[in-house]
Amino acid sequence: MSEAPGAGESPTVEAAAVPQKDDSECAAGTGKKKAPPTITIINEYCKGCDLCVVACPKDVLAMKAGKVIVVKGELCNGCMLCELRCPDFAILIGEVA
Ligand code: SF4
Ligand code: SF4
Repeated sequence: MSEAPGAGESPTVEAAAVPQKDDSECAAGTGKKKAPPTITIINEYCKGCDLCVVACPKDVLAMKAGKVIVVKGELCNGCMLCELRCPDFAILIGEVA
């Protein structure tokens, strides 16, 4: 429809704006890949409404036998959408251990 943002910019200028990677000064501290957060499901609370599965942008969750399960925990980005959407407080996203 409309022109994409930045379409008129030079790719060279854009590339020059990217900071050099230097693990020794990495803002995250270690330069190591961050581990996914823990995902805790309280089965007794889960009523299988599927809201968290639909909300998850990474397809981390799925339904099985009327309960939510974690199928791709390594892809979790910690966005907490599942926890926020759950009406029964049945799913909790924790910090990296
Ligand atoms: S925290 Fe985000 S990415 Fe992780 S399971 Fe929940 S909705 Fe999916
Ligand atoms: S939103 Fe909550 S109650 Fe619904 S399926 Fe997910 S964990 Fe279970």
